[in-house]
Amino acid sequence: MPTFGPRDAPLLIVGLAPGLHGANRTGRPFPGDHAGVLLYVTLKKHGLARGDYDERADDGLELIGCAITNAVRCVPPENKPLPAEINTCRQFLKATIEAMPKLRAILALGQIAHASVCAALGVKKSAYPFAHGASHRSGELTLLASYHCSRYNTNTGVLTEAMFDAMVKQAKLAAMPQL
Ligand code: URA
Repeated sequence: MPTFGPRDAPLLIVGLAPGLHGANRTGRPFPGDHAGVLLYVTLKKHGLARGDYDERADDGLELIGCAITNAVRCVPPENKPLPAEINTCRQFLKATIEAMPKLRAILALGQIAHASVCAALGVKKSAYPFAHGASHRSGELTLLASYHCSRYNTNTGVLTEAMFDAMVKQAKLAAMPQL
């Protein structure tokens, strides 16, 4: 599944993998997935997306100043990507990052995405531990980590709307400090 959003965006959001019923059906990361509802509502609130969110690829939804990709490109068996799949797909993540000349910040959703971003950038995971709200520097880039906005995490209260809102706000500030 290709990256969604403008290549000259200063912010890249990295999810885990396309969901069977959502991203895989719509051809874009997240729309149609439960996790996408919170993600796109929050992006719209912060001016990072506009248009209608209809869970269809032709709904007119547009990203502003950010792009969204996944650590894993294909729908994983039982929704759980295996390490080999994550490693194989890292070349796409790396290529996506390298193809974004104005990139200033990466927001990883969940521990697996964060670890894959670190590996793609060639930085040591141990020096960039995952925590919700963690912020690390790698050269010009700010690497931010959030709990994944999955149905499981929001239903169990691991991630609240307010916590996710604060992360997106922080990511926007890191990527576009002038705004
Ligand atoms: N859909 C996606 O595209 N990525 C996720 O991480 C979850 C749902």
